[in-house]
Amino acid sequence: MSKPAPSGSITVLAGPTAVGKGTVSTFVRDNYPEVSLSVSATTRSPRPGEIDGVHYHFLSQEQFEQYIEQGAFLEWATVHGLNKYGTLKHTVEEAAAAGKRVLLEIDLQGARQVREALPGAHFVFLAPPSWEELVARLTGRGTESPEEQQRRLETARLELAAESEFDQTIVNEHVDVAAAELVQSMGIAPRTA
Ligand code: 5GP
Repeated sequence: MSKPAPSGSITVLAGPTAVGKGTVSTFVRDNYPEVSLSVSATTRSPRPGEIDGVHYHFLSQEQFEQYIEQGAFLEWATVHGLNKYGTLKHTVEEAAAAGKRVLLEIDLQGARQVREALPGAHFVFLAPPSWEELVARLTGRGTESPEEQQRRLETARLELAAESEFDQTIVNEHVDVAAAELVQSMGIAPRTA
């Protein structure tokens, strides 16, 4: 097999809030070392257990804006009208240069920007089994206030409508199965337990 072009080694995973993008991408990171999960930058505060440089690069508003001015981001967006999140170009470039398959777990706005910048990347939409299941997952998580949950559901409705923009849809019914489908789309043989 020939070496893929840089953008060909990049897969973008997007989908509505609470669909389980984080769970699926963490599963991939823990079970498929040949995949490099891009560590995003964010202005939001760490949740309990989150480690700087592992889960996110936690930046101040000023630091984030400085990176924007420097053109350091491949993409960035304000998510849920609240905090900024972005993918640093060098994170992706370093992983691709090391021959890794790179996985970006980002929101829809970011996915659209990556499509502009790297049209050769692969775009995967992670869908819930149903709207009711998505609502149950979002409210069941219990980490957000009712106002924040409402805001995220509104975002999710818009995000669900964007499915047709993607190259492929994976339904997240079972995390291990969804992760296997995802790595398969990246050209990696899935391992089953
Ligand atoms: P959370 O705050 O729950 O970790 O993430 C909130 C949302 O931000 C998720 O939908 C996640 O996909 C998105 N997100 C995380 N990192 C990035 C990024 O680098 N860029 C963009 N555009 N969205 C991101």
